[in-house]
Amino acid sequence: MANTTHLYLQSTRKSPISTLTSYDPSTREAIGTVAITTSEQIPALITSSRKAQQSWAALSLTQRQQIVIQAYQHLASVQDQLAKLISQEMGKDYQRATYEAGGTIQNAAYFTQEIAEALSSKTVDRGTELQYRPLGVVAVISPWNYPLAMANNLIMPALMAGNSVVLKPSEETPLVAELFVNTLNQIFPENVLQLAQGDKHTGQALVSSDINMIAFTGSMATGKHIMANAAPGLKRLVMELGGNDPMIVMASANIDAAVQFAVASSFENAGQMCTSTERIYVDASIADEFEGKVVALASRYKVGPWHQTQVNIGPIVNQQQHHNIVAQLQDATLKGARLLLGSDDYSLPYIQPTVITGITPDMLLEQVETFAPVVAISRFESIDQAITRANDSPYGLGAVVFGGQDANAVAEQLEAGMVAVNQGVGGGNAPWVGAKQSGFGFHGTAAGHRQFAQVRVISK
Ligand code: NAD
Repeated sequence: MANTTHLYLQSTRKSPISTLTSYDPSTREAIGTVAITTSEQIPALITSSRKAQQSWAALSLTQRQQIVIQAYQHLASVQDQLAKLISQEMGKDYQRATYEAGGTIQNAAYFTQEIAEALSSKTVDRGTELQYRPLGVVAVISPWNYPLAMANNLIMPALMAGNSVVLKPSEETPLVAELFVNTLNQIFPENVLQLAQGDKHTGQALVSSDINMIAFTGSMATGKHIMANAAPGLKRLVMELGGNDPMIVMASANIDAAVQFAVASSFENAGQMCTSTERIYVDASIADEFEGKVVALASRYKVGPWHQTQVNIGPIVNQQQHHNIVAQLQDATLKGARLLLGSDDYSLPYIQPTVITGITPDMLLEQVETFAPVVAISRFESIDQAITRANDSPYGLGAVVFGGQDANAVAEQLEAGMVAVNQGVGGGNAPWVGAKQSGFGFHGTAAGHRQFAQVRVISK
């Protein structure tokens, strides 16, 4: 254990250093290095980005769309490399990494069309036109859990709107970003899309620099720092922040369907998903059956490195995050929660599939985002109790209820940007949106795409 910890320490990246090394969290081997963009280098980078933006914005929307489609077609040549790097850098199993890379590339043509339609000028009344103008330079700051998809969701509408973009990817996944941006840049005009590599120091310098907008996906804590640092320049913000999503299982629920969802949603991406199920409130009258079936299903999951077949839970991304998870589990058991499945062997870098019951509001597992393969269960006696606990959180990203017809009325009372009945959130042609401190602004759909533009009303 001590030896493992020592090796794992290598994956904590401290600034200031001139290069950033990326490590495979499964093997703790170095995969590669990138040069860090220092705060001293940021002003020149923004100047070149602003210059490039002017010629980019001078192109028509259709011309930009054609270039973006061509660039994403070119990205297909490195699709397998991208998938492998996603797995290597953050530990996701290779099949899921392949979906992430494939989806990003294959959906590009569809999304550029949706964005183009959203950003086309609209006549609203006789002679009055709404135009969607570029904002200028947009900083996209992205997380590691879906390192390609999360960056892409924000980059594409920003570029299509005629902005230039500086991407600051997570320090956990710099190589995915490097390959993504370098490949696109074989097609894009110079400096329209640039990279700023590094940790929070690079991010802070970028936020404070002469940019016009910050499109951020990441934790609530970082979102608050960014908002404070963006305030002096009143920079435009889109904030896609963390979640602590509740799931309510009513007595009227199809228990097998609820069990399937509870386990799959808690364990997806090793639980490292913004809308993973974090807290489950189950009606006490069906709780024994529900828990028994959850344990049976959860025990079939296999933990291991991304390249091993049949592994469906990869490593935890870094030592700090592993430490946070162990602290939450120990806090819960100390306060009376019971482990139904799992182990107190918390050897790095894994967390075994865990099912824990008897969660109460004073436990960290209930209060904060866990980001781990943990099914955390509480029993309720009345549905009002369950709704109160589900809503008693500063987070408000997703919320799910499983039940019969009576579930619809419960869904109406849940405080989240995305609420779903008997299914996961985010279905349909709808924006991805958080409520409360899970953020503001959103991506997807015309309303989402238009956030990357300045509306100009012209009446002639
Ligand atoms: P994080 O907040 O630690 O880091 C995100 C990015 O912000 C990284 O690039 C990081 O270097 C940068 N950063 C950190 N401090 C900064 C600062 N002060 N100024 C500027 N940049 C700074 O998040 P993470 O651990 O990379 O990602 C996991 C979090 O992201 C979870 O909370 C998850 O729920 C959330 N997330 C949300 C969504 C969504 O759609 N709402 C999607 C994916 C992930």
